[in-house]
Amino acid sequence: MSDLTDPQIERSELAFEASLRPGSLDEFVGQENVRKQLSLILDAAAIQKRVADHILLAGPPGLGKTTLAMIVAKESNANLRLTSGPAIQHAGDLAAVLSSLMPGEVLFIDEIHRMARSAEEMLYLAMEDFRIDVMVGKGPGATSVSLEIAPFTLVGATTRSGILANPLRDRFGFTANLEFYSDDELASVLARAARQLGIEIHTDATAAIASRSRGTPRIANRLLRRVRDFALVNSHSVISVAIANDAMSIYEVDSLGLDRLDREVLKVLCTSYPGRAVGLSTIAVSVGEEQDTIDGVVEPYLVRSGLVVRTPKGREATAAAYQHLGLPKPNNGQASLFDL
Ligand code: ADP
Repeated sequence: MSDLTDPQIERSELAFEASLRPGSLDEFVGQENVRKQLSLILDAAAIQKRVADHILLAGPPGLGKTTLAMIVAKESNANLRLTSGPAIQHAGDLAAVLSSLMPGEVLFIDEIHRMARSAEEMLYLAMEDFRIDVMVGKGPGATSVSLEIAPFTLVGATTRSGILANPLRDRFGFTANLEFYSDDELASVLARAARQLGIEIHTDATAAIASRSRGTPRIANRLLRRVRDFALVNSHSVISVAIANDAMSIYEVDSLGLDRLDREVLKVLCTSYPGRAVGLSTIAVSVGEEQDTIDGVVEPYLVRSGLVVRTPKGREATAAAYQHLGLPKPNNGQASLFDL
């Protein structure tokens, strides 16, 4: 997978992303229902002068969960504290964070599904009663002491809401399921980012980048940055659609937003195993990649784009895949898929 189309954030992008984050619900593009619902929750809390209900943000990486957590804090005039599931490996890690919260603060736990089980149980009580039970002492003399903590709003983010324990999920007053963005919405994200970065870009060029961004604002912003670099190096002060297309062909991102690895996987399915279902491990070996990468990053987008289907026997290329690669459809009697 090239870094360009991986929806996960890279370290080197932290500052760039921070500079592009919308600062309010009004500036946040798309996700209309989520915005309306969040706005209601925040307004109701303000009227009643209490902390807002706990909020769970669920959805694939790069769709705006961290940004929304920041907006929730900002719109509640509250300080934001950030941590993540992998950083909470013991109940004690969470106790340290919870007991240091100031009244009204927003605690953001990214990848909340990766938190240690023991911490999760501590969180239940904290979310419900703003209390935690901590063990004092060791061995047979250890006792549990109940500590009051400041009222706070928990914003949890997860890319895998399906594996979240029910008791945890039930304790959120509101769950927002973020959806992939339409090309028009991504074009708005790009136009806004271009304004902020002082980039002059034609509307059809933003549309060309949007359609290759896999429904994901993070990827859209990243592609814009690469196109800007290309324009700079080639002394173009305005980005036209031709420049955007040239830049993206250099980075090997095609018209559907597929990168080289995506296309390699498709090619394996279409040319080595035409009309047949193939197991994940075979695909991984054929393209020389980790199975996790194929499973976690490549396949979801190929399936979502209708290029690959998952069958009980494995993965199979659809008619659209052959068409996209400019290959003839196989003629081996397994035509059913090609009705898709
Ligand atoms: P997540 O936490 O879901 O991985 P982020 O909140 O970090 O995603 O968003 C990734 C990048 O995409 C940020 O730089 C942000 O500026 C941009 N972004 C995400 N959603 C939107 C949106 N709705 N409008 C404008 N920019 C967005």
